[in-house]
Amino acid sequence: MTYVVTDACIRCKYMDCVEVCPVDCFYEGENMLVISPSQCIDCGVCEPECPPEAIHPDSDPGMEGWVKFNAEYAEKWPNIFMKKDPPTDAAEWDGVPDKYPAQFSEDPGEGD
Ligand code: SF4
Ligand code: SF4
Repeated sequence: MTYVVTDACIRCKYMDCVEVCPVDCFYEGENMLVISPSQCIDCGVCEPECPPEAIHPDSDPGMEGWVKFNAEYAEKWPNIFMKKDPPTDAAEWDGVPDKYPAQFSEDPGEGD
């Protein structure tokens, strides 16, 4: 069992989630985060902290593809455990549907 980040995070990237994760298993892309499914201990504390409700348990319907997605980019992107400033236009992208793949960047973030 794991929690995963979905495309609701893209261009929102508020990073409230990284502050509460007890095992620091978030990884930073240029415009979204992912969770490492092999490191997540399934505690669930990050889910209610996410303003755009981008974080879901893998038991939710339709999460299979997002588990693979999170696993893939957790290998490619750097670890992040401290909250930074969110994008200045984050509020404009909060709630916009289907941001993947149109708004997704494969590039890594800076990490911590
Ligand atoms: S709190 Fe939600 S929107 Fe913000 S970085 Fe974490 S998963 Fe993405
Ligand atoms: S469920 Fe717990 S361990 Fe998994 S990413 Fe969220 S805070 Fe971290």
